[in-house]
Amino acid sequence: MLIIKKNIFAALLFSIISHCALSTEHYAVTADHLIDGESKELQHNLAIIISGNKIDSIVKKSSIPENIDVIDMGNATLMPGLINAHEHPLLHENDYQTAHLKSSSAYKALIGLKTHQGLLAHGWTTIRVMGDGDVFYANQDIKKAIDNKIFVGPRITGAAHYISITGGGGDINYMSPEQNLIADGLIADGPQEIIKAIRKEIKYGSDWIKIMVTGAFMSVGDNPENVSFSPEELHAAVNEAKRHNIPVAAHAHATDGINQAVKAGVRSIEHGTYISDESISLMVKHGTFYVPTIYVGDYYANSDKLLAQEKNDDYYLSYRSEWLSMIEKAYRAGVKITVGSDLCGYGINPSLCAREFATLIEAGMTPMDAVKAGTIVGAEMLGWDDHLGSIIPGKLADIIAVKGNPLEDISSLEKPLLVIKDGEVVINKIDSYSVFEKN
Ligand SMILES: [Zn+2]
Repeated sequence: MLIIKKNIFAALLFSIISHCALSTEHYAVTADHLIDGESKELQHNLAIIISGNKIDSIVKKSSIPENIDVIDMGNATLMPGLINAHEHPLLHENDYQTAHLKSSSAYKALIGLKTHQGLLAHGWTTIRVMGDGDVFYANQDIKKAIDNKIFVGPRITGAAHYISITGGGGDINYMSPEQNLIADGLIADGPQEIIKAIRKEIKYGSDWIKIMVTGAFMSVGDNPENVSFSPEELHAAVNEAKRHNIPVAAHAHATDGINQAVKAGVRSIEHGTYISDESISLMVKHGTFYVPTIYVGDYYANSDKLLAQEKNDDYYLSYRSEWLSMIEKAYRAGVKITVGSDLCGYGINPSLCAREFATLIEAGMTPMDAVKAGTIVGAEMLGWDDHLGSIIPGKLADIIAVKGNPLEDISSLEKPLLVIKDGEVVINKIDSYSVFEKN
């Protein structure tokens, strides 16, 4: 930690204090650059004053009050904590469709906690879980344990399961008919079963509903170009969730599936591979958010990691460049795009998640808009932009620092130097400090 202090003794003392007491202190964090999540330009030589769990004020570096402790990150950029809008912390690689049957929900909660903590240590202060491979509700239990301050972890929101039709992208479609397995998704057919599934999701802590409107790329035996949900089922899903004030996220590849889901009133489209001009104008009209999740496709393409490897490669590789040009069209038309990695389940290096920023820039977003997609726009999608997603006095102090200027080298987001969540320092690499190694 670089510290503005008069002597070594004070520096040592501060270092000790910072390890145990910063979460409730009034302190300053400063660096050469700042992205506040709202301004168009990079700002310089500012300091953020943090009080408790909130941002108190932004002042000039030269005007930091003398009586408070200072974390000086030097030639780095301070920016809002990252918001991962699409993640499955419990899934991992090739056998994700049956892995949920191989371990208890309790074990899943333990490995899931490790995954969430790894994501937080890499700057993802908020995670939206988009359904997960667990028969029960491990992510909701992890969230409860974090909220109750039993463990340090990211702010978690999202759905316990993805709701799929029989034979859809959330079903297991490669076993014999004699098997009666619990699928990785929650299987529901017809408006009544879907309504019941949604009520159960909400009952056990989901604050989003995730529906598999079309087939998927990485699951065996279904087709991403087919629409799974009927219009009646879609309307039942959105209307039921709406009655409980819960937003719906729609996994949708096929154009008709995207369009029907947007018209039905879902809040976000996940993946949206075959997004058309009509889809784009519908999304602008309805204010639907778009979570493309591009990098996960690059990660798995041409690998040997998936049971449905051939199917995935056929769809993904043949359409990647056209898809990216449609994402650019959506961006230029004003569709609100957010960052979802869809990749960093258990056992995956969490630094890979931030590569989604690079693919969004490849698709045509400016680096600043890509950063906003992973911060303030993500907060807006969650309905939390009044208290999260930008560095504004009064908002929660979720702040990271990355090396140099990320607008010139976006890969700096892969390894943040400093992570602060709710005013508490989680990681400070300059000081070799990690809250996870405190005890
Ligand atoms: Zn996903």
